[in-house]
Amino acid sequence: MAGGDNTIDPVHASIMTLLATGQITSRSDIARELGLAPSTVSLRVNELIETGIIVEAGTGRSTGGRRPRVLELNRTAGHVLVADLGGKHARVALVDLLGQPRQVEEVELDITEGPPAVLDRLATALTAMAKTGDSRTRGPEPSSDPGLGDLRGTALTLPGPVDVDHGWVDSPSRMPGWHRFPVRDWLVERFGVPCVIENDANAMALAAHHAHQPSIRHSIFAKAGTAIGCGLVIDGVIHRGSTGAAGDLTHVRVAAADHRACSCGNAGCLETIASGSALVQHVRADGMDVHTTTDVVAAARDADPIATTRIRSAGRALGETLSPVVNFVNPDAVFLGGVLSVVEPFVAAVRSQLYEGCHPLVTRDLYIGQSPVGIDAGVLGASRAILDHVLTPALN
Ligand SMILES: [Zn+2]
Repeated sequence: MAGGDNTIDPVHASIMTLLATGQITSRSDIARELGLAPSTVSLRVNELIETGIIVEAGTGRSTGGRRPRVLELNRTAGHVLVADLGGKHARVALVDLLGQPRQVEEVELDITEGPPAVLDRLATALTAMAKTGDSRTRGPEPSSDPGLGDLRGTALTLPGPVDVDHGWVDSPSRMPGWHRFPVRDWLVERFGVPCVIENDANAMALAAHHAHQPSIRHSIFAKAGTAIGCGLVIDGVIHRGSTGAAGDLTHVRVAAADHRACSCGNAGCLETIASGSALVQHVRADGMDVHTTTDVVAAARDADPIATTRIRSAGRALGETLSPVVNFVNPDAVFLGGVLSVVEPFVAAVRSQLYEGCHPLVTRDLYIGQSPVGIDAGVLGASRAILDHVLTPALN
Protein backbone atom coordinates (compact mmCIF):
# COMPACT_ATOMS: atom_id res chain seq x y z
CA MET A 1 0.00 0.00 0.00
CA ALA A 2 1.96 3.07 1.12
CA GLY A 3 5.36 2.90 -0.50
CA GLY A 4 8.70 3.58 1.07
CA ASP A 5 8.07 7.26 1.67
CA ASN A 6 5.91 7.45 4.76
CA THR A 7 6.01 11.18 5.34
CA ILE A 8 3.03 13.40 4.71
CA ASP A 9 3.87 15.34 1.62
CA PRO A 10 5.36 18.63 2.88
CA VAL A 11 3.76 20.68 0.09
CA HIS A 12 0.32 19.25 0.90
CA ALA A 13 0.91 19.98 4.56
CA SER A 14 2.00 23.55 3.81
CA ILE A 15 -0.97 24.19 1.53
CA MET A 16 -3.40 22.87 4.14
CA THR A 17 -1.73 24.87 6.89
CA LEU A 18 -1.92 28.09 4.84
CA LEU A 19 -5.59 27.53 3.99
CA ALA A 20 -6.33 26.77 7.63
CA THR A 21 -5.33 30.35 8.51
CA GLY A 22 -8.18 31.66 6.34
CA GLN A 23 -5.88 34.47 5.13
CA ILE A 24 -4.62 32.62 2.06
CA THR A 25 -7.33 31.61 -0.37
CA SER A 26 -5.95 31.30 -3.90
CA ARG A 27 -3.45 29.23 -5.85
CA SER A 28 -1.37 32.34 -6.62
CA ASP A 29 -1.26 33.34 -2.92
CA ILE A 30 -0.07 29.84 -2.06
CA ALA A 31 2.60 29.87 -4.77
CA ARG A 32 3.88 33.22 -3.51
CA GLU A 33 3.89 32.18 0.17
CA LEU A 34 5.65 28.88 -0.50
CA GLY A 35 7.99 30.21 -3.18
CA LEU A 36 6.90 27.46 -5.57
CA ALA A 37 6.05 27.46 -9.27
CA PRO A 38 2.32 28.07 -9.91
CA SER A 39 2.17 24.83 -11.92
CA THR A 40 3.46 22.83 -8.93
CA VAL A 41 0.96 24.46 -6.61
CA SER A 42 -1.90 23.86 -9.06
CA LEU A 43 -1.04 20.18 -9.30
CA ARG A 44 -0.93 19.74 -5.54
CA VAL A 45 -4.09 21.78 -4.95
CA ASN A 46 -5.91 19.68 -7.53
CA GLU A 47 -4.83 16.49 -5.73
CA LEU A 48 -6.29 17.85 -2.51
CA ILE A 49 -9.50 18.88 -4.28
CA GLU A 50 -9.76 15.39 -5.74
CA THR A 51 -9.61 13.87 -2.24
CA GLY A 52 -12.18 16.35 -0.90
CA ILE A 53 -9.76 17.97 1.54
CA ILE A 54 -9.97 21.31 -0.24
CA VAL A 55 -13.09 22.78 -1.79
CA GLU A 56 -13.49 25.62 -4.26
CA ALA A 57 -15.91 28.15 -2.80
CA GLY A 58 -16.70 30.76 -5.44
CA THR A 59 -14.42 33.42 -6.87
CA GLY A 60 -12.34 36.08 -5.15
CA ARG A 61 -11.56 39.72 -5.85
CA SER A 62 -9.69 40.32 -9.09
CA THR A 63 -6.36 42.11 -9.00
CA GLY A 64 -6.47 42.87 -12.69
CA GLY A 65 -6.81 39.56 -14.49
CA ARG A 66 -9.24 36.68 -14.20
CA ARG A 67 -10.88 36.44 -10.78
CA PRO A 68 -9.16 33.70 -8.74
CA ARG A 69 -11.18 30.80 -7.38
CA VAL A 70 -11.36 30.84 -3.58
CA LEU A 71 -9.96 27.76 -1.91
CA GLU A 72 -11.09 26.57 1.48
CA LEU A 73 -10.05 23.76 3.73
CA ASN A 74 -12.89 21.30 4.13
CA ARG A 75 -12.79 20.82 7.89
CA THR A 76 -15.50 18.21 7.75
CA ALA A 77 -13.58 16.22 5.17
CA GLY A 78 -12.90 13.54 7.68
CA HIS A 79 -10.39 12.07 10.06
CA VAL A 80 -8.09 9.12 10.58
CA LEU A 81 -7.85 6.73 13.52
CA VAL A 82 -4.44 5.72 14.79
CA ALA A 83 -3.04 3.53 17.53
CA ASP A 84 0.46 3.35 18.98
CA LEU A 85 0.80 -0.14 20.42
CA GLY A 86 3.13 -0.98 23.29
CA GLY A 87 3.59 -4.12 25.34
CA LYS A 88 1.02 -3.33 28.03
CA HIS A 89 -0.97 -0.45 26.62
CA ALA A 90 -1.81 1.50 23.49
CA ARG A 91 -2.44 5.16 22.80
CA VAL A 92 -5.36 5.53 20.45
CA ALA A 93 -6.29 8.77 18.75
CA LEU A 94 -8.70 10.46 16.40
CA VAL A 95 -6.66 12.80 14.20
CA ASP A 96 -7.90 15.46 11.81
CA LEU A 97 -6.62 15.84 8.28
CA LEU A 98 -4.11 18.47 9.34
CA GLY A 99 -2.48 15.85 11.54
CA GLN A 100 -3.79 17.34 14.81
CA PRO A 101 -4.97 14.81 17.38
CA ARG A 102 -8.55 15.68 18.42
CA GLN A 103 -8.95 12.92 21.00
CA VAL A 104 -6.30 10.73 22.59
CA GLU A 105 -6.88 7.88 25.02
CA GLU A 106 -4.78 5.25 26.72
CA VAL A 107 -6.02 1.65 26.47
CA GLU A 108 -4.68 -1.13 28.68
CA LEU A 109 -3.99 -4.45 27.01
CA ASP A 110 -1.44 -7.23 26.86
CA ILE A 111 0.33 -7.70 23.54
CA THR A 112 1.19 -11.32 24.42
CA GLU A 113 -2.53 -12.21 24.12
CA GLY A 114 -1.91 -12.30 20.37
CA PRO A 115 -3.21 -10.38 17.37
CA PRO A 116 -6.92 -11.33 17.21
CA ALA A 117 -7.58 -10.34 20.84
CA VAL A 118 -5.37 -7.23 20.80
CA LEU A 119 -6.57 -5.94 17.42
CA ASP A 120 -10.19 -6.46 18.40
CA ARG A 121 -9.64 -4.47 21.58
CA LEU A 122 -7.95 -1.66 19.65
CA ALA A 123 -10.64 -1.64 16.96
CA THR A 124 -13.36 -1.44 19.60
CA ALA A 125 -11.65 1.52 21.31
CA LEU A 126 -11.09 3.30 17.98
CA THR A 127 -14.68 2.73 16.90
CA ALA A 128 -16.00 4.15 20.18
CA MET A 129 -13.76 7.18 19.75
CA ALA A 130 -14.88 7.78 16.17
CA LYS A 131 -18.55 7.58 17.17
CA THR A 132 -18.24 10.12 19.99
CA GLY A 133 -16.09 12.36 17.74
CA ASP A 134 -18.73 12.08 15.07
CA SER A 135 -21.63 13.06 17.32
CA ARG A 136 -19.55 15.90 18.78
CA THR A 137 -18.79 17.43 15.38
CA ARG A 138 -22.36 16.99 14.15
CA GLY A 139 -24.04 18.58 17.14
CA PRO A 140 -26.92 17.25 19.21
CA GLU A 141 -28.80 15.78 16.23
CA PRO A 142 -28.23 12.04 16.15
CA SER A 143 -26.07 11.13 13.20
CA SER A 144 -28.00 9.37 10.46
CA ASP A 145 -24.83 7.37 9.94
CA PRO A 146 -24.43 4.87 12.76
CA GLY A 147 -20.95 4.05 11.46
CA LEU A 148 -17.68 5.88 11.64
CA GLY A 149 -18.43 9.23 10.04
CA ASP A 150 -15.89 10.35 7.51
CA LEU A 151 -13.18 7.91 8.34
CA ARG A 152 -10.38 8.18 5.77
CA GLY A 153 -7.89 5.65 7.07
CA THR A 154 -6.28 3.92 10.00
CA ALA A 155 -2.69 3.48 11.13
CA LEU A 156 -1.04 1.30 13.72
CA THR A 157 2.48 1.24 15.14
CA LEU A 158 3.92 -2.02 16.42
CA PRO A 159 6.92 -2.65 18.70
CA GLY A 160 8.59 -5.12 16.34
CA PRO A 161 10.17 -5.35 12.87
CA VAL A 162 7.43 -4.18 10.51
CA ASP A 163 7.30 -5.31 6.91
CA VAL A 164 5.36 -2.40 5.38
CA ASP A 165 4.95 -4.11 2.03
CA HIS A 166 3.19 -7.16 3.50
CA GLY A 167 1.58 -5.26 6.37
CA TRP A 168 2.81 -7.52 9.15
CA VAL A 169 5.57 -7.92 11.72
CA ASP A 170 8.38 -10.33 11.00
CA SER A 171 10.02 -12.38 13.79
CA PRO A 172 9.20 -10.02 16.67
CA SER A 173 10.51 -10.85 20.12
CA ARG A 174 8.08 -11.01 23.06
CA MET A 175 5.06 -10.89 20.70
CA PRO A 176 3.83 -14.51 20.53
CA GLY A 177 1.45 -15.18 17.65
CA TRP A 178 2.27 -11.96 15.75
CA HIS A 179 4.85 -13.33 13.31
CA ARG A 180 3.44 -12.61 9.84
CA PHE A 181 -0.11 -12.20 11.12
CA PRO A 182 -1.81 -10.02 8.44
CA VAL A 183 -2.30 -6.98 10.70
CA ARG A 184 -2.92 -4.44 7.95
CA ASP A 185 -5.39 -6.65 6.09
CA TRP A 186 -7.22 -7.34 9.35
CA LEU A 187 -7.67 -3.59 9.95
CA VAL A 188 -8.63 -2.91 6.31
CA GLU A 189 -11.32 -5.58 6.57
CA ARG A 190 -12.58 -4.29 9.92
CA PHE A 191 -12.77 -0.60 8.97
CA GLY A 192 -13.10 -0.71 5.17
CA VAL A 193 -10.57 2.09 4.65
CA PRO A 194 -6.84 2.17 3.82
CA CYS A 195 -4.43 1.28 6.60
CA VAL A 196 -0.69 1.60 7.11
CA ILE A 197 1.35 -0.09 9.79
CA GLU A 198 4.72 1.11 11.01
CA ASN A 199 7.41 0.20 13.50
CA ASP A 200 6.95 2.31 16.66
CA ALA A 201 10.50 3.72 16.75
CA ASN A 202 10.26 4.63 13.05
CA ALA A 203 6.97 6.45 13.66
CA MET A 204 8.49 8.34 16.60
CA ALA A 205 11.61 9.13 14.55
CA LEU A 206 9.44 10.60 11.81
CA ALA A 207 7.43 12.73 14.26
CA ALA A 208 10.56 14.03 16.04
CA HIS A 209 12.32 14.75 12.75
CA HIS A 210 9.50 16.89 11.42
CA ALA A 211 8.81 18.66 14.73
CA HIS A 212 12.39 19.85 15.19
CA GLN A 213 13.08 23.52 14.57
CA PRO A 214 14.91 24.63 12.54
CA SER A 215 14.14 21.96 9.96
CA ILE A 216 16.75 19.27 9.43
CA ARG A 217 17.64 16.68 6.80
CA HIS A 218 18.98 13.65 8.67
CA SER A 219 18.28 12.39 12.18
CA ILE A 220 18.58 9.37 14.42
CA PHE A 221 15.97 8.60 17.06
CA ALA A 222 16.64 6.27 19.97
CA LYS A 223 13.68 5.14 22.05
CA ALA A 224 14.86 4.15 25.49
CA GLY A 225 11.93 2.61 27.30
CA THR A 226 11.24 -0.90 28.55
CA ALA A 227 12.94 -1.93 25.31
CA ILE A 228 15.32 -0.05 23.03
CA GLY A 229 14.31 0.93 19.52
CA CYS A 230 15.93 3.15 16.96
CA GLY A 231 14.88 4.90 13.77
CA LEU A 232 16.87 6.56 11.04
CA VAL A 233 15.47 9.41 8.93
CA ILE A 234 17.44 10.35 5.83
CA ASP A 235 16.37 13.39 3.79
CA GLY A 236 13.08 13.38 5.67
CA VAL A 237 12.30 9.75 4.84
CA ILE A 238 12.53 6.68 7.07
CA HIS A 239 15.41 4.43 6.10
CA ARG A 240 14.04 0.90 6.47
CA GLY A 241 16.85 -1.19 5.07
CA SER A 242 16.53 -4.26 2.92
CA THR A 243 14.26 -6.31 5.18
CA GLY A 244 12.79 -3.58 7.38
CA ALA A 245 15.24 -4.18 10.22
CA ALA A 246 17.29 -0.97 9.82
CA GLY A 247 17.85 0.87 13.08
CA ASP A 248 17.92 -2.21 15.28
CA LEU A 249 20.55 -1.31 17.85
CA THR A 250 19.31 -3.35 20.74
CA HIS A 251 21.22 -6.51 19.83
CA VAL A 252 24.56 -4.82 19.24
CA ARG A 253 27.16 -6.24 21.62
CA VAL A 254 28.64 -3.88 24.18
CA ALA A 255 31.61 -4.53 26.46
CA ALA A 256 29.81 -3.22 29.55
CA ALA A 257 27.10 -5.89 29.19
CA ASP A 258 29.66 -8.48 30.21
CA HIS A 259 28.28 -11.47 28.23
CA ARG A 260 24.87 -11.41 29.91
CA ALA A 261 22.38 -13.72 28.21
CA CYS A 262 19.95 -11.84 25.96
CA SER A 263 16.39 -12.62 24.81
CA CYS A 264 17.72 -13.02 21.25
CA GLY A 265 19.84 -16.03 22.19
CA ASN A 266 23.08 -14.08 22.03
CA ALA A 267 25.03 -12.65 24.94
CA GLY A 268 26.28 -9.18 25.83
CA CYS A 269 23.66 -7.23 23.83
CA LEU A 270 22.92 -3.56 24.55
CA GLU A 271 19.43 -4.64 25.64
CA THR A 272 20.86 -6.55 28.63
CA ILE A 273 22.25 -3.38 30.17
CA ALA A 274 20.45 -0.35 28.74
CA SER A 275 16.79 -1.36 28.35
CA GLY A 276 14.26 -0.48 31.01
CA SER A 277 13.51 -4.14 31.69
CA ALA A 278 17.24 -4.83 32.26
CA LEU A 279 17.44 -1.80 34.56
CA VAL A 280 14.59 -3.17 36.67
CA GLN A 281 16.47 -6.46 37.08
CA HIS A 282 19.75 -4.74 37.95
CA VAL A 283 18.22 -2.31 40.41
CA ARG A 284 16.29 -5.17 42.07
CA ALA A 285 19.54 -7.14 42.34
CA ASP A 286 20.99 -4.07 44.05
CA GLY A 287 18.29 -4.52 46.71
CA MET A 288 15.65 -1.98 45.68
CA ASP A 289 11.95 -2.86 45.48
CA VAL A 290 11.09 -1.81 41.90
CA HIS A 291 8.81 -3.52 39.39
CA THR A 292 8.68 -1.33 36.29
CA THR A 293 10.89 1.00 34.28
CA THR A 294 8.74 3.85 35.56
CA ASP A 295 9.62 2.85 39.16
CA VAL A 296 13.33 3.08 38.32
CA VAL A 297 12.85 6.44 36.60
CA ALA A 298 10.87 7.77 39.58
CA ALA A 299 13.66 6.69 41.96
CA ALA A 300 16.29 8.38 39.78
CA ARG A 301 14.27 11.58 39.65
CA ASP A 302 14.22 11.47 43.46
CA ALA A 303 18.04 11.37 43.22
CA ASP A 304 18.27 7.79 44.46
CA PRO A 305 21.97 6.92 44.00
CA ILE A 306 21.46 3.26 42.98
CA ALA A 307 18.87 4.03 40.31
CA THR A 308 20.83 7.05 39.07
CA THR A 309 24.07 5.06 38.75
CA ARG A 310 22.35 2.28 36.82
CA ILE A 311 20.56 4.71 34.52
CA ARG A 312 23.81 6.59 33.88
CA SER A 313 25.50 3.29 32.90
CA ALA A 314 22.58 2.58 30.57
CA GLY A 315 23.05 6.01 28.93
CA ARG A 316 26.77 5.40 28.52
CA ALA A 317 26.15 2.03 26.88
CA LEU A 318 23.59 3.56 24.52
CA GLY A 319 25.94 6.45 23.67
CA GLU A 320 28.81 4.05 23.05
CA THR A 321 26.64 2.00 20.69
CA LEU A 322 25.34 5.07 18.89
CA SER A 323 28.79 6.62 18.37
CA PRO A 324 29.89 4.60 15.32
CA VAL A 325 26.42 5.03 13.81
CA VAL A 326 26.55 8.80 14.33
CA ASN A 327 30.08 8.94 12.89
CA PHE A 328 28.94 6.97 9.88
CA VAL A 329 25.64 8.74 9.20
CA ASN A 330 26.64 12.30 10.21
CA PRO A 331 23.08 13.33 11.18
CA ASP A 332 21.83 16.80 12.16
CA ALA A 333 20.21 15.48 15.32
CA VAL A 334 20.13 12.56 17.73
CA PHE A 335 16.75 12.49 19.46
CA LEU A 336 16.16 10.55 22.64
CA GLY A 337 12.66 9.35 23.43
CA GLY A 338 11.03 6.84 25.73
CA VAL A 339 10.64 7.02 29.48
CA LEU A 340 14.39 7.05 30.26
CA SER A 341 14.88 10.20 28.19
CA VAL A 342 13.27 12.30 30.93
CA VAL A 343 16.14 11.48 33.28
CA GLU A 344 18.83 14.14 32.84
CA PRO A 345 21.81 11.93 33.86
CA PHE A 346 20.73 9.47 31.14
CA VAL A 347 20.70 12.17 28.45
CA ALA A 348 23.99 13.62 29.75
CA ALA A 349 25.66 10.18 29.61
CA VAL A 350 24.56 9.61 26.00
CA ARG A 351 25.73 13.08 25.07
CA SER A 352 29.16 12.73 26.69
CA GLN A 353 29.75 9.36 24.99
CA LEU A 354 28.86 10.84 21.62
CA TYR A 355 31.18 13.80 22.12
CA GLU A 356 33.93 11.43 23.16
CA GLY A 357 33.37 8.77 20.50
CA CYS A 358 32.64 10.88 17.42
CA HIS A 359 34.77 12.98 15.11
CA PRO A 360 34.59 16.70 16.02
CA LEU A 361 33.25 17.55 12.58
CA VAL A 362 30.35 15.16 13.21
CA THR A 363 29.41 16.63 16.60
CA ARG A 364 30.16 20.27 15.71
CA ASP A 365 26.57 21.18 14.84
CA LEU A 366 24.88 18.04 16.17
CA TYR A 367 21.74 18.39 18.30
CA ILE A 368 21.66 15.73 21.03
CA GLY A 369 18.71 15.78 23.35
CA GLN A 370 15.15 14.89 24.15
CA SER A 371 12.75 14.42 21.28
CA PRO A 372 10.67 17.56 20.61
CA VAL A 373 7.52 15.42 20.72
CA GLY A 374 6.56 13.71 23.93
CA ILE A 375 4.19 10.90 24.71
CA ASP A 376 2.20 11.27 21.47
CA ALA A 377 5.23 10.81 19.19
CA GLY A 378 4.06 7.38 18.00
CA VAL A 379 0.54 8.66 17.34
CA LEU A 380 1.85 11.68 15.43
CA GLY A 381 4.25 9.60 13.32
CA ALA A 382 1.54 7.08 12.48
CA SER A 383 -0.80 9.94 11.54
CA ARG A 384 1.77 11.31 9.10
CA ALA A 385 2.09 7.89 7.50
CA ILE A 386 -1.64 7.37 6.91
CA LEU A 387 -2.32 11.01 5.96
CA ASP A 388 0.36 10.83 3.32
CA HIS A 389 -1.27 7.71 1.98
CA VAL A 390 -4.72 9.28 1.98
CA LEU A 391 -3.71 12.73 0.71
CA THR A 392 -1.44 11.61 -2.10
CA PRO A 393 -3.70 9.55 -4.36
CA ALA A 394 -1.25 9.87 -7.23
CA LEU A 395 1.36 7.88 -5.32
CA ASN A 396 -0.93 5.03 -4.35
ZN1 LIG B 1 20.25 -9.72 22.00
